[in-house]
Amino acid sequence: MAGIRLRAWRDGGDWVLRGEKTFITFGDEADYAIVIAVSGSAAREATAFLVDRKMGWTSRPIETMGSWHTPAALTFDDVRVPASNVLGEVGGGWELAMRWIVRGRYVIPSQAVGTAERCLHMAIAHANTRVTFGRPIGERQAIQWMIADSEVELEAARWLALRCAWTVDQGQPARHPAAVAKLYGAGMVNRVVDRTLQIFGGMGYTRDLPIEGWYRAVRVLRVLEGTDEMQRMIISRDLLRGYEKIGDTSHDRGRARAPHRRRPALSGRPAPRHPRPGRA
Ligand SMILES: Cc1cc2nc3c(=O)[nH]c(=O)nc-3n(C[C@H](O)[C@H](O)[C@H](O)COP(=O)(O)OP(=O)(O)OC[C@H]3O[C@@H](n4cnc5c(N)ncnc54)[C@H](O)[C@@H]3O)c2cc1C
Repeated sequence: MAGIRLRAWRDGGDWVLRGEKTFITFGDEADYAIVIAVSGSAAREATAFLVDRKMGWTSRPIETMGSWHTPAALTFDDVRVPASNVLGEVGGGWELAMRWIVRGRYVIPSQAVGTAERCLHMAIAHANTRVTFGRPIGERQAIQWMIADSEVELEAARWLALRCAWTVDQGQPARHPAAVAKLYGAGMVNRVVDRTLQIFGGMGYTRDLPIEGWYRAVRVLRVLEGTDEMQRMIISRDLLRGYEKIGDTSHDRGRARAPHRRRPALSGRPAPRHPRPGRA
């Protein structure tokens, strides 16, 4: 977001958009695009527009290793957009984008949980029926541990996703729980699909089964809607700056403060810059 280069400027009653957006999911199929463009002198002075394809933008699909979230590059070659197509306030695009990005981040862990659950069902059924050296592979500890690890991580990701959804339902700021759930969920599903493929052995690697397709598809969940590294930056910054308290699931979590403000310590005094272990 911070590196937006697509620009918008006023021309009579219209806005004119010039630039490119790469990696836009389903951008080649879309009839409309919500476009956030820099509309002022500062990088964060951005405005959101609803732009009909008939207004003149073009798209080019981008080949990827997976079949989910098929992206395209969108080109805006002086596309004229009526002022009535501004979404929200002029200059309010950054704030809108941040809100939508957080939404995307809590959808992904739910998608990860669904995929991992399907994989684990398949892995268990296969472990119970595939016999090698006279016994089902599910009777071998090596296979049992892969199933157990997958179940533990799947349950953890499910609760993180649910906790995040609950936070949103309460109308509370969800940036932090969304980053936690997204980071963990995306990693979890990659590990579970990998174990499932391992449990299926050679069959798992073939195109006769959907596992190899999921293996390729879920990889992108660690990249889009903010990479693993970005989620780690958000999570650690929230804690280091005292924006978030560890394990805070209270009903009015974060209500009293703006999402990006420093949170006062419980005593009412400002949070210490470098709190020492064991000291409140
Ligand atoms: C299939 C697909 C669909 C997508 N759909 C959309 C979409 O619909 N809309 C949309 O807006 N975007 C979309 N994206 C873009 C996606 O959000 C970006 O690819 C992602 O945010 C990473 O940005 P980048 O590709 O520019 O990588 P870069 O920013 O170039 O990062 C490269 C690497 O460096 C790391 N890195 C970068 N900066 C730092 C830093 N400060 N500290 C530590 N590490 C850092 C990153 O984590 C990454 O590992 C999509 C991408 C893909 C692959």
